[in-house]
Amino acid sequence: MFIAIKDLELRDVRFQVDVPAGEIDYSSEITQISALHATGSAHLLSRSLGEVRIEGNLKVTVNAPCDRCLESATVAVEKRFDLVYMPSETGNGAREDEVDEAAVEVGYYDGAGLALNDVLREVVLLALPMQLICAEACKGICPECGQNLNQGECDCEPQPIDDRWSKLREFRAGSTARN
Ligand SMILES: [Zn+2]
Ligand SMILES: [Zn+2]
Repeated sequence: MFIAIKDLELRDVRFQVDVPAGEIDYSSEITQISALHATGSAHLLSRSLGEVRIEGNLKVTVNAPCDRCLESATVAVEKRFDLVYMPSETGNGAREDEVDEAAVEVGYYDGAGLALNDVLREVVLLALPMQLICAEACKGICPECGQNLNQGECDCEPQPIDDRWSKLREFRAGSTARN
Protein backbone atom coordinates (compact mmCIF):
# COMPACT_ATOMS: atom_id res chain seq x y z
CA MET A 1 0.00 0.00 0.00
CA PHE A 2 1.26 3.44 -0.95
CA ILE A 3 0.25 6.49 1.10
CA ALA A 4 0.18 9.33 -1.41
CA ILE A 5 0.47 12.91 -0.26
CA LYS A 6 -2.12 13.98 -2.84
CA ASP A 7 -4.65 11.64 -1.21
CA LEU A 8 -3.78 12.93 2.26
CA GLU A 9 -4.48 16.44 1.04
CA LEU A 10 -8.11 15.36 0.57
CA ARG A 11 -8.61 13.17 3.63
CA ASP A 12 -6.88 10.99 6.21
CA VAL A 13 -5.93 7.57 4.92
CA ARG A 14 -6.90 4.59 7.06
CA PHE A 15 -5.21 1.25 6.67
CA GLN A 16 -5.79 -2.30 7.77
CA VAL A 17 -3.29 -4.71 6.27
CA ASP A 18 -2.08 -8.27 6.63
CA VAL A 19 1.38 -8.39 5.12
CA PRO A 20 2.45 -11.97 4.40
CA ALA A 21 5.87 -13.18 5.51
CA GLY A 22 8.56 -12.52 2.90
CA GLU A 23 7.10 -9.31 1.54
CA ILE A 24 9.08 -6.98 3.79
CA ASP A 25 12.85 -7.25 3.71
CA TYR A 26 14.19 -6.62 7.24
CA SER A 27 17.84 -7.38 7.80
CA SER A 28 19.45 -10.69 6.91
CA GLU A 29 19.15 -11.74 10.55
CA ILE A 30 15.45 -11.09 11.02
CA THR A 31 12.75 -13.24 9.44
CA GLN A 32 9.04 -12.58 9.63
CA ILE A 33 7.29 -15.87 10.47
CA SER A 34 3.66 -14.79 10.78
CA ALA A 35 1.50 -12.42 8.79
CA LEU A 36 2.04 -8.85 9.93
CA HIS A 37 -1.23 -7.33 10.98
CA ALA A 38 -1.42 -3.54 11.16
CA THR A 39 -4.20 -1.01 11.50
CA GLY A 40 -4.01 2.73 11.74
CA SER A 41 -4.21 6.00 9.89
CA ALA A 42 -2.10 8.59 8.16
CA HIS A 43 -2.80 12.28 8.55
CA LEU A 44 -1.26 15.31 6.89
CA LEU A 45 -0.06 17.52 9.76
CA SER A 46 1.09 20.34 7.57
CA ARG A 47 0.14 20.66 3.94
CA SER A 48 2.80 23.27 3.16
CA LEU A 49 5.59 21.28 4.83
CA GLY A 50 4.36 17.87 3.74
CA GLU A 51 4.56 16.58 7.30
CA VAL A 52 2.74 13.27 7.72
CA ARG A 53 1.78 11.58 10.97
CA ILE A 54 1.22 7.83 10.91
CA GLU A 55 -0.18 6.08 13.94
CA GLY A 56 -1.54 2.64 14.58
CA ASN A 57 -1.00 -0.81 15.99
CA LEU A 58 1.13 -3.60 14.67
CA LYS A 59 1.35 -7.29 15.51
CA VAL A 60 3.81 -9.80 14.06
CA THR A 61 6.06 -12.70 15.03
CA VAL A 62 9.66 -12.73 13.87
CA ASN A 63 12.70 -14.93 14.25
CA ALA A 64 15.95 -13.27 15.24
CA PRO A 65 19.24 -14.62 16.58
CA CYS A 66 19.56 -15.01 20.37
CA ASP A 67 22.20 -12.65 21.78
CA ARG A 68 23.60 -15.41 23.98
CA CYS A 69 23.59 -18.60 21.90
CA LEU A 70 23.04 -17.19 18.37
CA GLU A 71 20.32 -19.74 17.68
CA SER A 72 17.08 -18.48 16.23
CA ALA A 73 14.72 -17.01 18.82
CA THR A 74 11.02 -16.31 18.27
CA VAL A 75 9.84 -12.83 19.21
CA ALA A 76 6.23 -11.72 19.28
CA VAL A 77 6.04 -8.01 18.55
CA GLU A 78 2.99 -6.02 19.49
CA LYS A 79 3.48 -2.31 19.17
CA ARG A 80 1.47 0.88 19.18
CA PHE A 81 3.29 3.41 17.02
CA ASP A 82 3.14 7.12 16.35
CA LEU A 83 5.59 8.44 13.78
CA VAL A 84 6.07 11.68 11.92
CA TYR A 85 7.53 11.76 8.41
CA MET A 86 8.87 14.79 6.62
CA PRO A 87 9.97 15.17 3.00
CA SER A 88 13.71 14.52 2.90
CA GLU A 89 14.38 17.71 0.92
CA THR A 90 13.20 19.72 3.93
CA GLY A 91 16.36 18.52 5.62
CA ASN A 92 16.54 18.75 9.38
CA GLY A 93 16.91 22.45 9.93
CA ALA A 94 14.97 24.61 12.34
CA ARG A 95 11.88 22.43 12.11
CA GLU A 96 13.26 19.77 14.37
CA ASP A 97 12.44 21.59 17.62
CA GLU A 98 8.76 21.67 16.82
CA VAL A 99 8.70 18.00 16.02
CA ASP A 100 10.52 17.10 19.23
CA GLU A 101 7.77 18.75 21.23
CA ALA A 102 5.31 16.23 19.90
CA ALA A 103 7.46 13.49 21.48
CA VAL A 104 7.26 11.22 18.48
CA GLU A 105 9.84 9.62 16.26
CA VAL A 106 10.66 11.32 12.99
CA GLY A 107 11.47 9.81 9.62
CA TYR A 108 11.87 11.11 6.11
CA TYR A 109 10.31 10.23 2.77
CA ASP A 110 11.15 10.95 -0.85
CA GLY A 111 8.81 12.04 -3.57
CA ALA A 112 5.07 11.57 -3.70
CA GLY A 113 4.51 9.71 -0.46
CA LEU A 114 5.38 6.66 1.63
CA ALA A 115 5.22 2.93 1.15
CA LEU A 116 3.36 1.58 4.18
CA ASN A 117 5.62 -1.50 4.23
CA ASP A 118 8.66 0.74 4.79
CA VAL A 119 6.92 2.32 7.76
CA LEU A 120 5.97 -1.07 9.21
CA ARG A 121 9.49 -2.38 8.71
CA GLU A 122 10.83 0.52 10.76
CA VAL A 123 8.29 -0.04 13.52
CA VAL A 124 9.25 -3.72 13.81
CA LEU A 125 12.97 -2.94 13.96
CA LEU A 126 12.40 -0.28 16.62
CA ALA A 127 10.19 -2.63 18.63
CA LEU A 128 12.71 -5.45 18.95
CA PRO A 129 14.18 -5.67 22.44
CA MET A 130 17.75 -4.49 22.99
CA GLN A 131 18.68 -7.83 24.43
CA LEU A 132 17.04 -10.60 22.57
CA ILE A 133 17.25 -14.07 24.12
CA CYS A 134 15.71 -17.39 23.09
CA ALA A 135 14.83 -18.27 26.68
CA GLU A 136 15.44 -16.80 30.12
CA ALA A 137 17.48 -19.90 30.96
CA CYS A 138 19.64 -19.78 27.83
CA LYS A 139 23.19 -20.81 28.78
CA GLY A 140 24.82 -19.16 25.77
CA ILE A 141 27.94 -20.43 24.06
CA CYS A 142 31.29 -21.42 25.55
CA PRO A 143 33.69 -18.49 25.06
CA GLU A 144 36.52 -20.99 24.49
CA CYS A 145 35.19 -23.47 21.94
CA GLY A 146 31.88 -21.96 20.82
CA GLN A 147 29.83 -24.96 21.92
CA ASN A 148 26.14 -24.12 22.41
CA LEU A 149 25.83 -24.93 26.11
CA ASN A 150 22.07 -25.49 25.79
CA GLN A 151 22.91 -28.57 23.74
CA GLY A 152 25.43 -29.93 26.23
CA GLU A 153 28.53 -29.13 28.23
CA CYS A 154 31.92 -28.91 26.57
CA ASP A 155 35.27 -30.10 27.94
CA CYS A 156 36.85 -26.67 28.33
CA GLU A 157 38.53 -25.74 31.60
CA PRO A 158 36.36 -23.47 33.73
CA GLN A 159 37.27 -19.81 33.25
CA PRO A 160 39.39 -18.11 35.91
CA ILE A 161 36.88 -16.43 38.15
CA ASP A 162 36.61 -12.68 38.26
CA ASP A 163 37.38 -11.39 41.74
CA ARG A 164 34.11 -9.52 42.09
CA TRP A 165 32.18 -12.73 41.66
CA SER A 166 34.17 -14.67 44.23
CA LYS A 167 33.38 -11.93 46.75
CA LEU A 168 29.73 -12.25 45.89
CA ARG A 169 29.93 -16.00 46.33
CA GLU A 170 31.55 -15.64 49.77
CA PHE A 171 28.84 -13.21 50.70
CA ARG A 172 26.15 -15.64 49.57
CA ALA A 173 27.81 -18.57 51.33
CA GLY A 174 27.89 -16.48 54.49
CA SER A 175 24.23 -15.64 54.30
CA THR A 176 23.17 -19.24 53.72
CA ALA A 177 25.29 -20.36 56.68
CA ARG A 178 23.42 -17.95 58.90
CA ASN A 179 20.02 -19.25 57.81
ZN1 LIG B 1 19.86 -18.55 23.38
ZN1 LIG C 1 34.05 -25.01 25.51
